[in-house]
Amino acid sequence: MELWQQQLKQCITTPAQLAEHFPVDVAALEAVVERYPMRITPHYLGLIREIGDPIWKQCVPDPAELLADGLPADPLNEEHLSPVPSIVHRYPDRALFLVSNVCAAYCRFCTRKRKVGCGGHSVSFGEILDGIDYIGRNPRIKDVLLSGGDPLLMSDRMLGDILARLRRIPHVEVIRIGSRVPVTLPERITEELCRTLRQFHPLYLNTHFNHPAELTAAAAEACGRLADAGIALGNQTVLLAGVNDEPAVMAELVRGLMRIRVRPYYLHQMDLTAGTGHFRSRLERGLEILAALGGEVSGMAIPQYVVDLPGGKGKVPLVPGYLERLGESALLRAPDGERIVYPNGD
Ligand SMILES: *Cc1c(COP(=O)(O)O)cnc(C)c1O
Ligand code: SF4
Repeated sequence: MELWQQQLKQCITTPAQLAEHFPVDVAALEAVVERYPMRITPHYLGLIREIGDPIWKQCVPDPAELLADGLPADPLNEEHLSPVPSIVHRYPDRALFLVSNVCAAYCRFCTRKRKVGCGGHSVSFGEILDGIDYIGRNPRIKDVLLSGGDPLLMSDRMLGDILARLRRIPHVEVIRIGSRVPVTLPERITEELCRTLRQFHPLYLNTHFNHPAELTAAAAEACGRLADAGIALGNQTVLLAGVNDEPAVMAELVRGLMRIRVRPYYLHQMDLTAGTGHFRSRLERGLEILAALGGEVSGMAIPQYVVDLPGGKGKVPLVPGYLERLGESALLRAPDGERIVYPNGD
């Protein structure tokens, strides 16, 4: 077994295991974990400095996840944009290909927490083949985004097989992989994996760093190996209350990403997903942070701040000065021009 597989076996998956490291209310956390699974890698656990810090908040279950907040489990309407179970097809030229339903660590703020890590939703090889078939039958799809779950939890061989099948489709120009393992399980980025990936260029990898404390030496080495294999690296950060919604924290994060050869791509407003309300900041906060970055760091280090509109209406980039207030809501314009009233409460 490889080191990364051993590390996965040593993850913390129950509140009782967590209680061996930190004083936690086991019963309260068990109620959360029954609904939304927990998994913390040894590497990520080692980044926790104290209870409630930004790393803790991202990976330790919180009873607030069970609040009846009236929010939908699938705010982006992905289930309805799914021609086959493994595909979400919202934009004509791009398709999300959900090839995995597991992650090295389960983020408490995950927008797909309705299904990620939940056994009943595992992705079968047949569903993967159906996805490849769908992409093959739709010549408008030029850009395939492997996502999940985390595609890099698959074996090198399985991943190589899927990538080879995609590369045999003439109209697929670009392949992108979305993965958080450089952050939570950097051991996964082996030379062997990089040798597999580099056969399928142009290949891009978007990773998911949210806080400067995640920029460890091991993460930097993992990103360096990917970059040395010619893989262009981007980063998608989620704006998280109490984790990274401070201009100084975000500035340190984006500068640190540039140092480890990762270009900041998106800063996502938290989706309106059930069980994640305690992580949501107001749109004004994101815009303030963006404005502060503008005066401080290179344009290359500034991500686009995007809101994914409810109902699958698409991503809207926000820029300072854009926001139209409507009392407690904001008026946003969808990519097709439709005006959307977006809830923006605290
Ligand atoms: C975000 C997203 C994409 C990719 O969007 P880019 O802006 O090109 O990175 C594709 N499909 C879906 C369903 C998405 O949500
Ligand atoms: S790694 Fe991504 S898909 Fe997995 S739990 Fe975190 S946010 Fe969700």
